Amino acid sequence: QCLRHTEQKITKTVCTYCGVGCSFDITTRGRHILKIQPEQGPANGISTCVKGKFAWDFVNSKDRLVKPLIREGSTFREAGWDEALDLVHERFSATRASHGPDAIGFIATSKGSNEEVYLTQKFARAIIGTNNIDCTSRYCQSPATKGLTRTVGYAGDSGTMDDIDEAELLLLIGTNTTDSHPVLATRIKRRLKRGEVKVIVVDLLRHEMAERAQLFLRPKPGTDLVWLCAVTRYILDNGLEDRAFLAKRVNNLEALRASLAPFTLDYAEAETGLSQTNLIRIADMIVSASGVCALWAMGVTQRTTGSDTSTAISNLLLVTGNYGKKGSGAYPLRGHNNVQGAGDFGALSDKLPGYLKVSDKAARERVGRAWGVDLPEKPGLNNHSMIDAAHAGRLHAMYIIGEDTAVVDSNTGHTQEALERLDFLVVQDIFMTTTAQFADVVLPACPSLEKEGTFVNTERRIQHFAQALDPLGESRPDWQILCALAQRFGHRWDYAGPREIMSEATKVAPLFAGATYDRLEGYKSVVWPVDAQGHSETLLYTKHFHTKDGKARLYPVHWHAPVERADTEYDLTLNNGRVLEHFQEGNLTARVPGIVSKVNQFYVEVSQELADDLDIKTGARVMLTSRRGSVEAGVLVSPRVAGRELYTVEFSLTEPINRLTGNHADSVTSTPAFKELAVKLAILSRE
Ligand code: SF4
Repeated sequence: QCLRHTEQKITKTVCTYCGVGCSFDITTRGRHILKIQPEQGPANGISTCVKGKFAWDFVNSKDRLVKPLIREGSTFREAGWDEALDLVHERFSATRASHGPDAIGFIATSKGSNEEVYLTQKFARAIIGTNNIDCTSRYCQSPATKGLTRTVGYAGDSGTMDDIDEAELLLLIGTNTTDSHPVLATRIKRRLKRGEVKVIVVDLLRHEMAERAQLFLRPKPGTDLVWLCAVTRYILDNGLEDRAFLAKRVNNLEALRASLAPFTLDYAEAETGLSQTNLIRIADMIVSASGVCALWAMGVTQRTTGSDTSTAISNLLLVTGNYGKKGSGAYPLRGHNNVQGAGDFGALSDKLPGYLKVSDKAARERVGRAWGVDLPEKPGLNNHSMIDAAHAGRLHAMYIIGEDTAVVDSNTGHTQEALERLDFLVVQDIFMTTTAQFADVVLPACPSLEKEGTFVNTERRIQHFAQALDPLGESRPDWQILCALAQRFGHRWDYAGPREIMSEATKVAPLFAGATYDRLEGYKSVVWPVDAQGHSETLLYTKHFHTKDGKARLYPVHWHAPVERADTEYDLTLNNGRVLEHFQEGNLTARVPGIVSKVNQFYVEVSQELADDLDIKTGARVMLTSRRGSVEAGVLVSPRVAGRELYTVEFSLTEPINRLTGNHADSVTSTPAFKELAVKLAILSRE
């Protein structure tokens, strides 16, 4: 059709990148994206960042998968949908018959919609009969969720971004908000400029927010738990705690007090490198603020102490009465657009939709009744343990949707060996990712612009996105693929569309009871928990905590040193994270020419001090080697890093950082300790 005669179409959509959840109108003509225009989105107002505004060209990339593919030897041939789905049905049925349902594992996508995540976990549980289902939150925010469920109850931020805007003090730990959650950072910067808020940043990287903060502190890597516990102890020792709040609303104070015995200021100074003066300054700033919000991200969670450090943050907030009132609370910042929703809607190995426990008989029966099946009781394997099980030959088949596991899981050598050892692998994605190259069947899926659905942002806000474009080629939305496959297993999944899927989910999970599509029209949204009448709790814990007796529970934690630290051979610490322009492993943003023209190199940031020692300059080439592998990188001499600490971005598809990272993980949630990484550096060229 002639483009001149194709009408413009305006569709309300939600950003497919970070967890801020910006929503906007997208103007299209045919498949051409003409304009992105925010119209008072609940999270972003009229703001977007460079990704939300410009990083959509991947939908028309020549690399899009447009037909199902079936492996033949070392290559793939195109196939029809019937042939591909019949093969998946045949091989999954055979695997289940020979090895049982727990020989099959599922990874759901945090980029997909809630409705699609819901169907993925339903497929695993109700059709295959296994709880081996997980999602991307295992790689990032599971430890934060654990810290919250241990202490205050709900697996989500305790308020919204409007509540963050009310805080008198923000405590930012291990979060490079400017690069990773740009629109939220803009809101904070605006308030900083007006003098309405104070900010403490504790981070290894002197990022933009650190430059603007009233107090920036750089502890030794992996020691956040120590300073958090020392500050908490100092507050209690000096009678600065919120006694009325603790007496009325919190249990377990004496157990916490006893557990803090080792965390004296002397000890904390020695372990963290932070001066006692600064530790006392943090305490004083917290207790003198009328409301404190703590924001944290992967600098905290992707460590072997990720869950315990998240717990220590929540303990500190409780001791100072910083829950349940305006401008207070815990805000782990979700990285992917729908990583919150993926967990909420049941892509977790031990939780059903709405965080109902698989080990809870009544919950299992409730959901099983709705689905017309008996549900498996034994918690399943998570992402990390599925890879280990595949490596050991205990997991025989996997179905991976929208995740580039071969690149984003730690220790890619181990992960890729595990994928090779599977008898059968299905990958459902929009591109021929590294993971898809290990598959037996590749199913072409659609990005969010080509389908309808909902996402949950970091505020627990459920937002609807409408379909802007037709699916490209023969690609299909994930929900349609899952329904077609379910029919082959004899299950009548004849949902008319995402509206009907959400309607079922609202009946299964009380947490979303009122999240009907009628309440999500246009820019309308609801925040869970939302009851059947549509009443949302935006600020949690104003009256009760989400626990049996309604009281919060202080949870003692213990510290151990990072499992991997710099030593005489691997003598440098390599930290890693995001850069504003790119997202995750780069499968989307590396296919957007405008973005690639801005940042197209894999580089490592090196301090001036180390650069002088090594006699290298910006533009030098180096080889970084860990105990697992090597990657080559350009050098950027940067004031953001100090001493023998290096920083690099995680986006590169050509030099994935996870060639270097190891199998060590948070002991509670198995989240890989991507940040506990020691390397050595060899110079390839000096400038
Ligand atoms: Fe908003 Fe995040 Fe998307 Fe940027 S990447 S537009 S901050 S949701």
